[in-house]
Amino acid sequence: MTLQTCNPLTARFWFNLRAVVNWAVVIIVFIPLVFVLQEIFPYLTADVIAVAVTFSVFFFVLHKRAIGIECPYCFRHLATNTPWMCGYKFCRNENVDDYPFIYRCEHCGTEPKSYKCHHCGELIFFTNDRQKSNYATFISSSANLPPPVPKPKAPSRWAKKVAQESEQLHDLSHELKVTQLKGDIHEAKARIQPQKSEKELMEESLQKFYDRSVGAEEAGRKMKAMVDVECANNPDARERRHAIIDAWVRERI
Ligand SMILES: [Zn+2]
Ligand SMILES: [Zn+2]
Repeated sequence: MTLQTCNPLTARFWFNLRAVVNWAVVIIVFIPLVFVLQEIFPYLTADVIAVAVTFSVFFFVLHKRAIGIECPYCFRHLATNTPWMCGYKFCRNENVDDYPFIYRCEHCGTEPKSYKCHHCGELIFFTNDRQKSNYATFISSSANLPPPVPKPKAPSRWAKKVAQESEQLHDLSHELKVTQLKGDIHEAKARIQPQKSEKELMEESLQKFYDRSVGAEEAGRKMKAMVDVECANNPDARERRHAIIDAWVRERI
C-alpha cells in the first residue's frame, strides 16, 4: 500500500524517516482517539479499544508501507516496493518492504542512484549527481537482465595443431637448456677439482691399459669358445677363425 508519494530526489530521505513518521502518526491517532472513546465507553474499555485500533493501524497499515514516487518523464506513479535488480552486481531484490530500490541492495549494499522507469524506460535520478550507469531496474524486464556470458569457442583443428607444435617446441627448448646447463656444471666442477700429479696420471693410464688388454683377451677367449662349438667338425675353419681372433686381440694389447 502506498500512502505517500514524493519527489524522487527526496524518496530516500522519506524512506529513512519512515519509522519516525509512523510513530508520529500513531501518537497523533492514539491521543484524540482515547479522549473521544472515553466520552462514550468506560475508561478501561476506551483504552483497550484505542490501543487495539492504534496497534492495527501501525502493524497492518503503516509498518511496511511503500513510498511512492512520480516519474518526472511520464508522470506515472511508481510504488518503490517493486521487485528490482541492482545495477552493480545484478542482485535480485525481492524483500522490497525493507529493501526498496530507493534504499539499497539487500545483497551487495549498493545504493542505486537511479531507476529505469518501468513505464517509460527513462532514468529517474535519486541524487543530484545524475549518474547514468549502474541504475536499478524492474526485475522481470528481460531487456535488463545481465548480459549473457558468451560460450568459449571450441578451438579449430588448425589452432589445436599450432598449440601442440608450440608445446613440443617449448619442451624441446627446455630440454636443450637443461642439457647445456648440465654440461656447463660438469665443466665448472672439473675446473674446480685439483690437478692430478704425474704419478696419479701414470697409474690411471696403466689401469686403463690393463683393463683394456684383459678385456680384449677375455673377449677373444669367449669368441674362441663359440667358434669351437660352431666349427666342431671343421678343424680348418676353426684354425682360421682362431687366427682372426688372435690378430684382433694382438692389436689391442
Ligand atoms: Zn546488489
Ligand atoms: Zn516514466
